[in-house]
Amino acid sequence: MTDSATAPQSVGGPGLMQERRLLTPIPGPHSRELLARKAAAVAAGVAHTVPIAAVAAGGGVIIDADGNSLIDLGSGIAVTGVGNAHPRVVEAVTRQVAAFTHTCFMISPYEGYVAVAEALNRLTPGDHAKKSALFNSGAEAVENAVKIARKFTGRQAVVAFDHAYHGRTNLTMALTAKSMPYKSGFGPFAGEVYRAPVSYPFHDGLSGAEAATRAISVIDKQVGAANLAAVIIEPILGEGGFIVPAPGFLNAIADWCAVNSVVFIADEVQTGFARTGAMFASELFGIVPDLITTAKGIAGGLPLAAVTGRADIMDATHLGGLGGTYGGNPIACAAALASIAAFEHDGLVERARQIGAMLLGRLTAIQATDARIGDVRGSGAMVAAEFVKPGTKEPDAALAAGVAKAAIAQGVVVLTCGTYGNVIRFLPPLSIGDELLSEGLDVVAQALKEA
Ligand SMILES: *Cc1c(COP(=O)(O)O)cnc(C)c1O
Repeated sequence: MTDSATAPQSVGGPGLMQERRLLTPIPGPHSRELLARKAAAVAAGVAHTVPIAAVAAGGGVIIDADGNSLIDLGSGIAVTGVGNAHPRVVEAVTRQVAAFTHTCFMISPYEGYVAVAEALNRLTPGDHAKKSALFNSGAEAVENAVKIARKFTGRQAVVAFDHAYHGRTNLTMALTAKSMPYKSGFGPFAGEVYRAPVSYPFHDGLSGAEAATRAISVIDKQVGAANLAAVIIEPILGEGGFIVPAPGFLNAIADWCAVNSVVFIADEVQTGFARTGAMFASELFGIVPDLITTAKGIAGGLPLAAVTGRADIMDATHLGGLGGTYGGNPIACAAALASIAAFEHDGLVERARQIGAMLLGRLTAIQATDARIGDVRGSGAMVAAEFVKPGTKEPDAALAAGVAKAAIAQGVVVLTCGTYGNVIRFLPPLSIGDELLSEGLDVVAQALKEA
């Protein structure tokens, strides 16, 4: 048992000392104790990247049970964009939890849910009439977007792309591209899901128009627009490796969908809410999706997700066809409204751009002197480096894993991604300070030098 009397800092938020501080090796003794209990009590399939017991977080740091302070360059996978335990979120959640915790929106509606829908309808790209529905997770939002598109079009097929990640439920496993670890052994998967090649400039060398022609040809020949309900794509592919499609690719796919009455779904679960230096990544490419799925960054860490889109599409579903016990939980909605206020009024879109300039500047400078970095790409506070065998485009997953592991041992939380596992991704909370971000990058650079 952890002795709570001697437990370190358990109040988080931006008031925490913003420093990297290692009092013990990672993991320290208290963390080891929890990890042993985890191994005994938690299903083995639930992995962890950073071997610590977290007790507090805020600004740009995560504090562990041994008093270590780690620099957070991951935001719990792009979730704590506003920062952990953001004061606006803490205040809103505290107020809501004391008022009521649940009624079920399908039984007795409440204002928070409606206000989140209004905010999403206002903030997402396009000035057409929009509606929203709220859910609990990104995967659940994606599943519902597909349900809605099928109902609206009366068609069944769905196209997703190479390197796509859309979740771990049965339908979203089918949409997700990578087998290990997400799908392997978990089939059979949902039917009527087809895959098209994406634009991956570093590897395919194609222009956006060329890559779109290639994808549309596959869709036309192997599915046929007459059978196709929806095309779903992440505007910047997340788990697949922070792949930024070549200019024009997304526009050509969206245009083809419009001409063929196919619902174009942008999965902005990872890219949404200021992350990429725009409120939504679709804006960076000048596309207006029919439906947008959101989650991760929406509520400062509370579980909430949404589908937002054209009112006629959203309204195509029969009464009672959409919902769920917890979808749009009032506490999560309060957190979302506080987070959205922070994104809109605390300059976080601009902050994401500043962070992006720093990340891209540092990483491209390292790349110029190190042939093991094949590509640096991304937008805003969503930037990645792809590791290769020097002089080739052959993935070097061992190097990415080694650098991430060494950085974590030195107190910097970095995550890997990519279909080949050879990408290190940077997703700092937008509440991180320049000095801490810079120190985090120094540690990663040093880990690379020593690898
Ligand atoms: C994380 C993610 C999902 C799944 O979200 P969960 O909340 O984990 O179900 C779906 N799409 C994208 C793009 C994601 O990054």
